[in-house]
Amino acid sequence: MQLTNLTATEVVAGISARKFNAEEVAKAFLDRTAKLKNLNIYVHLDDEVVLNQARDVDRRLAAGEAVGPLAGLPVAIKDLLCVQGEPTTCGSKMLANFRPPYNATVIEKLKAAGAVLYGKANMDEFAMGSSTENSCYGPTLNPWDPARIPGGSSGGSAAAVAAMTAPVSLGSDTGGSIRQPAALCGVVGLKPTYGRVSRYGLIAFASSLDQIGPFTWNVPDMALMMEAISGGDPKDATSLPDAVPAYSQEIEKRPERLRIGVVKEFFGEGLDNEVAVAVHNAIEVYRKLGAEIKEVSLPHSKYGIAAYYIVAPAEASSNLARYDGTLFGHRAKDFSPADEAEKDLPALVRMMMATRAEGFGAEVKRRIMLGTYALSAGYADQYYNKALKVRRLIRNDFETAFKDVDFLIGPTTPTPAFKLGEKAANPLAMYLSDIYTITTNLAGIPGLSMPCGLSSEGLPIGMQLVGPAMSETALLQAARLFERETDWHTKRPNI
Ligand code: GLN
Repeated sequence: MQLTNLTATEVVAGISARKFNAEEVAKAFLDRTAKLKNLNIYVHLDDEVVLNQARDVDRRLAAGEAVGPLAGLPVAIKDLLCVQGEPTTCGSKMLANFRPPYNATVIEKLKAAGAVLYGKANMDEFAMGSSTENSCYGPTLNPWDPARIPGGSSGGSAAAVAAMTAPVSLGSDTGGSIRQPAALCGVVGLKPTYGRVSRYGLIAFASSLDQIGPFTWNVPDMALMMEAISGGDPKDATSLPDAVPAYSQEIEKRPERLRIGVVKEFFGEGLDNEVAVAVHNAIEVYRKLGAEIKEVSLPHSKYGIAAYYIVAPAEASSNLARYDGTLFGHRAKDFSPADEAEKDLPALVRMMMATRAEGFGAEVKRRIMLGTYALSAGYADQYYNKALKVRRLIRNDFETAFKDVDFLIGPTTPTPAFKLGEKAANPLAMYLSDIYTITTNLAGIPGLSMPCGLSSEGLPIGMQLVGPAMSETALLQAARLFERETDWHTKRPNI
């Protein structure tokens, strides 16, 4: 048996049935990871740290102690989730030597469930990007075709699963960073409802948009992970206290209602023809399953990218103000005045300026400048406040649509994975790769991407299902229904 081919559900079941133990599982994934180093998936991975956790699970099992529902399951972690004492660097030189003194709540929950924390997965610096090319560690390569990007910003987390170097992983999604790489790497990715999962210990990018979510091979694995990480948290005031459903049991039921809205605006200009065909085929699968299919319109979605690129950078400019070399992270060694104008500045200010100039990459600097500008006196009404109004209109569009339908369906991304370097020099082209995912973040609602086809070049194609706030149960049920009729979720890259 190839342990690295197993789904999370199979890993957990096999360990609890003593078919194999947690250490064997961890070893199998570590061996495979070592062979696939060229993909640059992990930025920090300590074999001994992983093996010790696995051995501890085995010891507890042997002693008859209670182990959690994820006992022995390796979970790769996006490098922006705080793990106590372990490097947590956000793909940034700014945090190169940062080791958090505490665990994120999702990390605590994974540990309590018996999971084995696997390596830290590569990402775009501070989660800003759609290709993982903005990482200070260099890009992650797409396991389906190493000449292509894996998507981003959670590209390492998506590739970790797709390359079978970990059975599941965690990422974060501010404008598409879970769903877009999931689509481009041929795995399932869920951005939960804003507040469904605690963000305590997630290094913030744009706090009104950020959510944590899993990458998995299939919907049962997604349910398993969501059960473990969801729930209210006194340490995150934006988390929702609602009880966590038994997703794993619920997903085998048919959703109560199956009225699916096909979003007109998501099938327009810029959409690759093979992607459009794959999603239309998926819609036909649902029709055969008895779904009522309707066309719906989200008329303001065309302003989504523009609104997002005001709101997200504005929040980022505030969140990233803390990286100034005083408390933690990078500190410039040389901050002597660079020119006449700097000569009169206090040394502390020069230290901060030099630290930020050295520590941040080009995209992060671009966002900080954009955001600072959009918030500055005299411009806030024209930009930031206007973007908030557009955000409200986008949210209203969804509310109107959900009066008639239970889910929305569309492509996750306009094209399959693009080539490394193809969009790196053109920020606007890069921003457009999130055109179908960004609006759900602005509205705070859940979106799930799942495989629904392969292009003629053998690249994965993803479709997105979107539901109203806190509709995760129904969303997972609808996704599971599709999975039972098709075999796209069983396709693996040939590496
Ligand atoms: N690609 C988008 C951006 O660069 C979304 C990133 C994300 O979801 N973290 O902002």
